[in-house]
Amino acid sequence: MNHATLRKQLINTALAMNTIGINQGTSGNISVRIDEGFLITPSALPYEECCPEDIVLMDLAGNPTGNQKPSSEWRFHRDIYLHREDAGAILHAHPPWCTTLACLGKEIPSFHYMVAVAGGATIRCAPYATFGTQDLSDHALLALEERNACLLANHGMLCLEKDLQQALSLAIEVENLACIYGQALQIGEPLLLGQEEMDQVLEKFRDYKQ
Ligand code: 13P
Ligand code: ZN
Repeated sequence: MNHATLRKQLINTALAMNTIGINQGTSGNISVRIDEGFLITPSALPYEECCPEDIVLMDLAGNPTGNQKPSSEWRFHRDIYLHREDAGAILHAHPPWCTTLACLGKEIPSFHYMVAVAGGATIRCAPYATFGTQDLSDHALLALEERNACLLANHGMLCLEKDLQQALSLAIEVENLACIYGQALQIGEPLLLGQEEMDQVLEKFRDYKQ
């Protein structure tokens, strides 16, 4: 896909995450891998005002090209592309239920089989670090080991997929899981599936996923 199309897709994905309700205002950021590095949303620019030229191109050394400042979270985007060959697109948002759990420092345990959609038996919560820092990126990379999504303590959610559409779908699913888990916690103690059960689901997902 050419850069012009990817720039438009980035903006449309950012607009969609706010319309769907998994993000608010200028929170969050999205990127997509290209041969030269990655394209990323600009920092602090409302998505409604963002045009394709505002999308910033970055190389994997962290050098930006463009007329806007890159997202303050470019470090975790860069580090994920460097360490995860499977990452074609990265989405970071502040979805209400994910962020609620993240503010309690809670991971999403194996309370529902769909938790396996993020690649493991749990969706981890990375320890808190100031936004935009290398520390936050280091914590996120660890929390994403063998996973496609994680929560960021006192902050939000981060996920990676092979393209933008799938990254948005995963973000919606993770927020849905966080919501059901949060609701279940209000009524009682959710029943957790064992590792064996989750392993079976993970195995089935390998065939199920397109
Ligand atoms: P940017 O506008 O710089 O992308 O920051 C938003 C955010 O969510 C920081 O964590
Ligand atoms: Zn954020």
